[in-house]
Amino acid sequence: QLYKSLHINHYILTSRLPKAGETIHGHKFFTGFGGKGANQCVQAARLGARTSIICKVRIGSLLLNAVEYVGQTKAAATGAASIIVDSEGQNVIVIVAGANLLLDSEDLKKANHIICKAKVMVCQLEITPATSLEALKMAHANGVKTLFNPAPALADLDPQFYTHSDIFCCNETEAEIITGIPVGNPEDAGKVGLTLLERGCKLVIVTLGAEGCVLVSVDERIPKHVPTGKVAAVDTTGAGDSFVGALAFYLAYYPHLSMEEVIKKSNFIASVSVQASGTQTSFPKRKDLPQDLF
Ligand code: ADP
Repeated sequence: QLYKSLHINHYILTSRLPKAGETIHGHKFFTGFGGKGANQCVQAARLGARTSIICKVRIGSLLLNAVEYVGQTKAAATGAASIIVDSEGQNVIVIVAGANLLLDSEDLKKANHIICKAKVMVCQLEITPATSLEALKMAHANGVKTLFNPAPALADLDPQFYTHSDIFCCNETEAEIITGIPVGNPEDAGKVGLTLLERGCKLVIVTLGAEGCVLVSVDERIPKHVPTGKVAAVDTTGAGDSFVGALAFYLAYYPHLSMEEVIKKSNFIASVSVQASGTQTSFPKRKDLPQDLF
């Protein structure tokens, strides 16, 4: 399985978020790894998947000897995000994509052999859309299942993204930016799914936080709501990445499962992640999960 985009996150915890121009004291600072590609990769790996990440970082900026296919550059800093979280769990986030935006065709060519033999390729939009699309096309042309997570969303998404994604998985906000349809419930999500089928998608999943997901496929064209169990959420940051990582894991290792079954299991895993704080730190490991998930 393959993923893209890697960031270093700087977290500051404060009692409240600052106003523009204001300086306030925070009570905790820590750093961690992030980036949607890296997060999704970590979740899939924690479930037992063999994963690779194709990304770009500043030369010498990270100890990445355990990670393959990482390009290095002097021309930009490693992607970074500043995340300020208040005592109610509200956050403001600024991302500087940096070196992620320099990932290009040359890097994809270098990783071609690994792209071709993957079972699933997962792409997001934290690298340039052109590189993401090229990667999806390379995978698609080689019979690799493609899972596209259009995040952060673009209003003018190239239509080729629809046709080169075997599975198109977005959250409510992304769904609205892409289709113009505001999503507040499963019915709205169903409309988004049908609209995206018209644009050329084969299978659409819209995630709905505590409401689970809606699945729409070209075979049935009837939106199906797949709810998730009620849990006490502590921190939902990264829930979508936990979900996408789990989805990729099941697609790669349990291809005989129905899509509904895959979504139920992925919902469950993401619901575990919201019961702990942080992003990657909240993603569950296989050994800590009920074994009937595997
Ligand atoms: P994102 O993190 O991209 O905003 P969502 O909030 O839609 O994505 O969450 C993705 C998935 O995580 C949901 O489909 C669901 O499976 C799970 N999830 C998110 N929030 C909750 C919650 N409060 N309770 C249970 N599961 C949740």
